[in-house]
Amino acid sequence: MRYTITPEPVRNLLHIELNIPATETATLELQLPAWRPGRYELANYARNMLAVEAVNDRSEPLAVRKITKDRWLVHPQGAAEVTVRYSYYAQQMDAGNSWVDGQFVYINFINCLLYAEGYQDEPCQVRLHLPDNYRIACGLPQPWPGLLEAESYYRLVDSPLIASDSMQQFAYKVSGHRFHVWVQGGVHFSPERLLQDFRGFTEAQMRMMGGFPCPEYHFLLHALDKEHYHGVEHWHSTVMTLGPAEKIGSDLYPELVGLASHELFHVWNVIRIRPAELLPYDFSRENYFPTGYVAEGLTTYYGDLLLARAGFFTPVQYLAELNRTLNRHFMNSNTAALSLVQSSFDLWVDGYTAGVPGRKVSIYHKGCLAALLLDLEIRQLTRDEKSLDDVVRLLWERHGQKEIGYYHEDYVAIAEEVAGVPLTGYFEQCIEGTAPLPESLAAALRHVGCDLEIVELPDNTGNVQVVIKLPEENNSLQKWLRG
Ligand SMILES: [Zn+2]
Repeated sequence: MRYTITPEPVRNLLHIELNIPATETATLELQLPAWRPGRYELANYARNMLAVEAVNDRSEPLAVRKITKDRWLVHPQGAAEVTVRYSYYAQQMDAGNSWVDGQFVYINFINCLLYAEGYQDEPCQVRLHLPDNYRIACGLPQPWPGLLEAESYYRLVDSPLIASDSMQQFAYKVSGHRFHVWVQGGVHFSPERLLQDFRGFTEAQMRMMGGFPCPEYHFLLHALDKEHYHGVEHWHSTVMTLGPAEKIGSDLYPELVGLASHELFHVWNVIRIRPAELLPYDFSRENYFPTGYVAEGLTTYYGDLLLARAGFFTPVQYLAELNRTLNRHFMNSNTAALSLVQSSFDLWVDGYTAGVPGRKVSIYHKGCLAALLLDLEIRQLTRDEKSLDDVVRLLWERHGQKEIGYYHEDYVAIAEEVAGVPLTGYFEQCIEGTAPLPESLAAALRHVGCDLEIVELPDNTGNVQVVIKLPEENNSLQKWLRG
């Protein structure tokens, strides 16, 4: 599939042309993704599309019939190649959408590029018609200015892009891998400090995982005027949208570093260590999976823990950060009706809204709590010989590196293998069940010398507040926080 994209800044439009070889096929079904990886809910990108038309290789019009909310049927009628044309309105600014104006072009291809059913594994090419002085930030190879190549549609739509003449670029290298930080918008921070802190968590993550899975990686940062916080993980990049820009060097700085560390950890967890239900992605409908608590819970946990191991957080700062994350669960959903597995499945229902009181849990917050519990339980059972780090490394070796998806059962089996004993209680209560967990957490934290104070909230919901008390330095705490 070959795409040509021509932005029209004044109308905030992307004019898109798609060429598909069609010799072998009686009909072509064209699908616009109904959702995007990283946000497991239907997205309705089709509402941004203007009319779709198709012609054959003699420029004669072909009939196009819409068959679902985001799927079109074309009869090539013997044409060797079909050309499809449409326009996409790009005017939503966050880490997962697209934007075109006179300042820059920002495209998440997953929003706007139709694919022909059955062609998803074929190589793709994108030709961008941009002003001559625009530079492109994108993880894809660019054999020619304005030309991007992807080995498949899956890789193409996992490679967002920013292009402008005002973007700033910074870079650092760790063990031969090059990391780029691209900033669109005002740079109100010290690039030296940022590079030092990014390098710190990159090294800590690579130490834990034993290397890095791609030669180059791109952080694409939109520094926005408005208040904003969002990040999305990709194959060899991430997009982060953060604001207000003038606070990124001060109040928002820990948020930026925390978000970047979280997104980088996703390069293993979920991007490559992928739930089997998401391999390959089916972009035409919901892809239910029960392991959202692994994808986001472990990433939330390690995103911050690795900042402690990198020295960005002192132990006191790290425990305060962890305390905040835990209370987002304990103060709101301690007695919620749905388990982590059920809430993972139901991401497609209300995963990205507050939801009705007492219903679901957050796979981020309770998922982080579950990761902490498992980590401490394994450390206690193995006298600090093993930890959740070993579980993640085995997931990487057996699933991520081999591109074999994992099931919930694989995660259970690997955790039990590392722990050396069945973890029935943990999985039944914390992952598949809805038992309130403050007492188990208090017991687990004692292993690293921490005391947990549990305060009941006066709202009659069974919610509580927890306060982690910093211990004296001890061996187990050191191993946990220093790696
Ligand atoms: Zn995440």
